[in-house]
Amino acid sequence: MVRPPENAVILFDGTDLSGWRRRDSDEPADWPVENGILTVGIGKRDIVSVETFRDAYIHLEFRVPDMPDKTGQKKGNSGVYLQGKYEIQVLDSYGWAVPGKGDCGAIYDQYAPLVNACKPPMEWQTYDIIFRAPRVDEAGNVVEHARITLLHNGIVVHNNVSVKGPTGGAMPGPLGEPGPLRLQDHGDPVQYRNIWLVHLPEEGSSEYAPR
Ligand code: MG
Repeated sequence: MVRPPENAVILFDGTDLSGWRRRDSDEPADWPVENGILTVGIGKRDIVSVETFRDAYIHLEFRVPDMPDKTGQKKGNSGVYLQGKYEIQVLDSYGWAVPGKGDCGAIYDQYAPLVNACKPPMEWQTYDIIFRAPRVDEAGNVVEHARITLLHNGIVVHNNVSVKGPTGGAMPGPLGEPGPLRLQDHGDPVQYRNIWLVHLPEEGSSEYAPR
């Protein structure tokens, strides 16, 4: 497991879901936690972190079940929504030579991963996500789209792509506001562990060499 840096905000360390709530209410999240592992609560719907963020570096680990009788979007489906609005797909896409826009690591239905970095089902995998939130003007119009860089199992699968807008199933609400990390209940017992983020400043200093 990758150890979080000192300045990380821990979202799930294996203990409990105190940092999470249900997507549609302020009720506590009630997905099962056992042996340090969070499992999708099937039929319990999505959960969201209480912590919200704009620009952030996010790390998480996931494991898809082995479902040999299933295919396509029914095979180990879950997802990680950035700010509740932009889904990075979680799926068992192991072995496909050319992954598509619905496969594991895809920014759902917008960008296929550059390469297939999937491990086999039942093996732990990592996502390291660098998210740049959309920029809006004072009227709330988007002037710069969200940008995502994704390393899947340490391999770059998205290189600073510009996300044209929220993906399917996005939570409502204006762009430009901070939003939570959201985990998807798509009916499959996908597992998660070691979830944390580091808030990123939106700009560095404007000085050449401040003293
Ligand atoms: Mg999904």
